[in-house]
Amino acid sequence: MSDRMHLEVQDDPAIAAEVDRLLARRTRDIRLRGEIKRLFRARVWSQTAKIIRAWMIWVAFLDVLTLALNMLMLPRAIALSMLLPGAIIPPVVVAIVLVWRKPQAPWLQGASLIAGMFLILLSIALVGVSAGGEFYERHLNIMLFVAITAIIIFGIPLAWTATIAALALGIYLVFQLRNPGIEFGSAVAATLFFASGIFATVAARRIMTILAQKTFLFELRDRRRVAELAEANGRLELLARTDPLTGIANRRWMTETLDRLWGGGRKCPDGAAMLMCDIDDFKKLNDHLGHAEGDRCLVVVASTIQENVRRDHDHVARYGGEEFLVLLPGVDEEMAISVAERIRKSVEATAFPNPASRVSRRVTLSIGVAVQTADEAISPEQLQRQADAALYLAKQTGRNRVLLHRQESFGRKHIQSTR
Ligand code: GH3
Ligand code: MG
Ligand code: MG
Repeated sequence: MSDRMHLEVQDDPAIAAEVDRLLARRTRDIRLRGEIKRLFRARVWSQTAKIIRAWMIWVAFLDVLTLALNMLMLPRAIALSMLLPGAIIPPVVVAIVLVWRKPQAPWLQGASLIAGMFLILLSIALVGVSAGGEFYERHLNIMLFVAITAIIIFGIPLAWTATIAALALGIYLVFQLRNPGIEFGSAVAATLFFASGIFATVAARRIMTILAQKTFLFELRDRRRVAELAEANGRLELLARTDPLTGIANRRWMTETLDRLWGGGRKCPDGAAMLMCDIDDFKKLNDHLGHAEGDRCLVVVASTIQENVRRDHDHVARYGGEEFLVLLPGVDEEMAISVAERIRKSVEATAFPNPASRVSRRVTLSIGVAVQTADEAISPEQLQRQADAALYLAKQTGRNRVLLHRQESFGRKHIQSTR
């Protein structure tokens, strides 16, 4: 069964309920119906078809082999009388093997198999009937033996199995009644004797099929449970990495992202810019407008920052109370400053009130920027410290501004303001 089919099965609550209902029953009462029956057949088809094809080829091979040996060892007249009925088997086998190469409509598979089995069993019986004498009864017995092997190993619907069993017993009864060597009573008695054996074989086959179906039901249930568990795990993992207030990544997610981008090494291969953003005089906003309004401000600022970065490239996380960390992979100083400026202006443009702020009557943001170029080696922690240092200076020099931490070629640290 393809993974796609499994996905559909897992998603279908009606199938899930039916699987649970069937598994709650006693094993011998398990009956597959509808979609589950179709899925089971699809699941076992290739194995069943392989067994049927192999069995057919085995029968054809034995048929040809015995006909050839008979030509060598038996009187010519007897051997020749066996040849014509025996020649039925190979073409029948070829036809069945062709039909059972690929999945077909169930009725076609069933009809071809049952008709083919009838011809094969009839052929074996006729070989004995036309040879006569000791061969008559012996071939009827061989025919029953061949039928029993098929009944046991063919994992087909019970109705098909029962039909094949009935055909074998029917052929046996008809030819025994016509056997000049035995009387009516003993023909019927022998048929009843073999019928009980064949009945037991069909019952055994039925149990094997039910056990295979039960295994299949367990498999469906396991797949569903594994999928449910994986989904729950996914939800938990997302929850553990998300900030519940703003819905953006939390510090932990950012740490994982940094580790991934730096790949355990000393640098991010394509370079990266880090923006440490901190709301100005946020404590005053809380104090004057209340904590709830403070929370609303955090949500507005978080979404404003997100709107100003590339959704599929950049990473934004709430890093502390009113601090946000933005990571821009593959971005140089000039670009980083322009993104930071855009964020700063957009936050100011939201016009979210902060009446007691020392900077403005609206909410403003200070941003410290640090950049690692592709040919520098700076660890995430170091880069963060540089962005922090730039942010600290932005706060010291008046807030509502972007400051870049710059590492000059002669190694002296230098901070540049854009305002
Ligand atoms: P500065 O301009 O120097 O950054 O001043 P500030 O007042 O913003 O800085 P400070 O770090 O002193 O204050 C941060 C405040 O953020 C303190 C805390 O009460 C508030 N805060 C932290 N987390 C939350 C939160 O989840 N919701 C709300 N409403 N306030 C928070
Ligand atoms: Mg602050
Ligand atoms: Mg702060």
